[in-house]
Amino acid sequence: ILQLYQPLNNFGSYYKSIQKNLVDMEKMIDLMHEPIEVNDPPDPKPLVVQKGEVEFRNVTFAYDERIPILKNVSFKVPSGRTVAIVGPSGGGKSTILRLLLRFYDIQEGSILIDGVDVRDVKQFDLRSQIGVVPQVDANDEQIAAAAVAAKIHEKILGFPDGYETKVGERGLRLSGGEKQRVAIARTVLKNPQIVLLDEATSALDTSTERHIQKSLQQMTVNRTTLIIAHRLSTIVHADLILVVKAGEIVERGSHDELMQIDNGVYFKLWNKQLKDRLKIKSKIKRLGRT
Ligand code: ATP
Repeated sequence: ILQLYQPLNNFGSYYKSIQKNLVDMEKMIDLMHEPIEVNDPPDPKPLVVQKGEVEFRNVTFAYDERIPILKNVSFKVPSGRTVAIVGPSGGGKSTILRLLLRFYDIQEGSILIDGVDVRDVKQFDLRSQIGVVPQVDANDEQIAAAAVAAKIHEKILGFPDGYETKVGERGLRLSGGEKQRVAIARTVLKNPQIVLLDEATSALDTSTERHIQKSLQQMTVNRTTLIIAHRLSTIVHADLILVVKAGEIVERGSHDELMQIDNGVYFKLWNKQLKDRLKIKSKIKRLGRT
């Protein structure tokens, strides 16, 4: 059965080769991409995120100016609300999260947190006040291991170096599920008003997964949350869904509103996911009988 659970991308294996501090977890979201240097402004404004309102105002961005990525993207996330970003691969979902952390500077428009432009504050202040839980995939063994290790937080506190423990080749080995839990635990400890989440794509339904889902959900309560969402449950309950395709927000609204758009991008995406889910379920059932 576990063979069904092939990770859908190889983020995890990429990172596994790097020895990392648990404290570097936030950096994982961007390790795949070499960020261009952005500089702190000479006279930075203080950033104390209180409400955690996030706004993208007519944002246009390209990694390489010949290839436009985001085109005139505008949206607003009110304090404490959850926005799910969905859409086909390569559409620009992760780019939106990277830009909020100011890994790159945009060509046009502005990105504001509580009305303050992210270019006007110190990068340290910005990134220290935004919690990031990256997607961490897991292979079959790792999932099994994660299922055994139900109490990751206590486990880590039990290590001599606690959260400073090294992970990776020569250090502590953590499974994908465990790593994600570490990221969740750390984010909760950091207590940020804004949380960015890259949800795992695999359609797992193990008790570990349900555990992780529950912690994620609890973490987002009363925090402004931007989530690259794949799960039906997450999407359905989001306050706002942005459908991003080829760098543009092509549809926006609640789940119910978007389902009204007959043959719309969201409508089709949702039905496809539903079908995939049913396929996996019936496969598991069949395997269970043999
Ligand atoms: P996925 O669902 O597959 O993760 P996504 O919607 O998150 O995709 P992005 O990762 O934001 O999409 O990528 C949007 C586009 O930008 C893609 O065409 C991608 O190839 C390109 N891109 C991403 N990072 C870089 C980079 N560092 N340099 C150049 N192009 C990049």
